[in-house]
Amino acid sequence: IAVSPVDRIWNKLGNANWGDIGALQVTFATFYCIMQFAGLPKHSIEDLAADHGCRLQTRRLERQLGDTRVNGSGLFRFQQHGVSPEIVEVQDESVKLESESLKLEVGSVLWLEDSNWERGYHINQIRSNGELPYYIASPVEDPGKSLFLYVGSHPSQLEPAWEDMNLWYLVQRQTKVLTIMKQKGLSGKYLPQLSASGRIIHPGQCRRPSSGGNCDHPWCGTPILVTSPVGETVADMVSEGHFGVDEAIRCCHDCLSALSTASSEGIRHGDIRPENVICVRSGESRPYFVLIGWGHAILEDRDRPAMSLHFSSTYALQEGKLCSASDAESLVYMLYFACGGAFPDLDSVEGELQWRETSWSRRLIQQKLGDVSTVLKAFADYVDSLCGTPYPMDYDIWLRRFKRSISEEDHGKEIAASV
Ligand SMILES: [Zn+2]
Repeated sequence: IAVSPVDRIWNKLGNANWGDIGALQVTFATFYCIMQFAGLPKHSIEDLAADHGCRLQTRRLERQLGDTRVNGSGLFRFQQHGVSPEIVEVQDESVKLESESLKLEVGSVLWLEDSNWERGYHINQIRSNGELPYYIASPVEDPGKSLFLYVGSHPSQLEPAWEDMNLWYLVQRQTKVLTIMKQKGLSGKYLPQLSASGRIIHPGQCRRPSSGGNCDHPWCGTPILVTSPVGETVADMVSEGHFGVDEAIRCCHDCLSALSTASSEGIRHGDIRPENVICVRSGESRPYFVLIGWGHAILEDRDRPAMSLHFSSTYALQEGKLCSASDAESLVYMLYFACGGAFPDLDSVEGELQWRETSWSRRLIQQKLGDVSTVLKAFADYVDSLCGTPYPMDYDIWLRRFKRSISEEDHGKEIAASV
């Protein structure tokens, strides 16, 4: 068993939310892993828990986390006023280096096989989704074409480290989701397309057994995913100041259209953030946006969305699930951010929820989007009214409204150009 370093798990969870059973389970699982590895602890878990109770009380007093006399040992509600982070993330570079998987360089060629064919890809650019690298590559037989290429982690690591989990979502899970979407006939301009998937062909002779599996070459069996189209992420556009009013309206329309198509087969995205939306510019046609990063998509009830303090929907942060309006809610947060809206510097789920409650109730998010366009403001109001209700999202109405405001804007431009 490979035991992930404890601090690493802790960092990934941010401020552990003790009301969150998932966090508690991870902590217990870690504890038992350590026990298997290092033997029984000197103190029983009951002693440790009793000790923890006292420490928790002291810490609540120190941090003025609500009234400690009431509901003393139970879960506490967030009542913190002056925000001070309790846990500061430590960047652990050593862990990163160890788990780094196959790295490709610009100019190198990667060969990919599935059961029927072999294909070469020329690596042109290295990108990052915020955490992991991926590539822009051209098929060797079609150098003019650009595609996204994602490299997974080596399959021999039976107990994947935490980082490899993210890679697994990026490559294997996303391959599964895109394959299912293809099988269900879900396609459209604003959805990514599965171009190829398979395993890497490594240098030297592959001595894998005929029954399947891998040989002992360190790259053997590494999964690869290739998708189209390619484009600049909203995160990059924002950092370079390329995201304006036109982009905001189009981005909202195009992402909603992608969500609408996917939801017609009950699929939700679950991970909308600036790194997962790209702007595609190709030839003569107008730039448009594509919703990528479908690795965390919700296909069935037991699937869990990605967790992002700023961009996850409120329901996802509270329940670990999505409701009908959740993806739209994440889209609103992303547009708010892309249009220059500020997020507080928080590191806890409770703090984030508190910020949202205040911002929505004072209509700060709507106001910010209203500075960009009235239709975006109206959309934010609609999403606010829908969040946490069982009512389905009405995509058609909003697609029509956004389309109307795009065509008005285009019309205006044509007149301006002809003058
Ligand atoms: Zn091999």
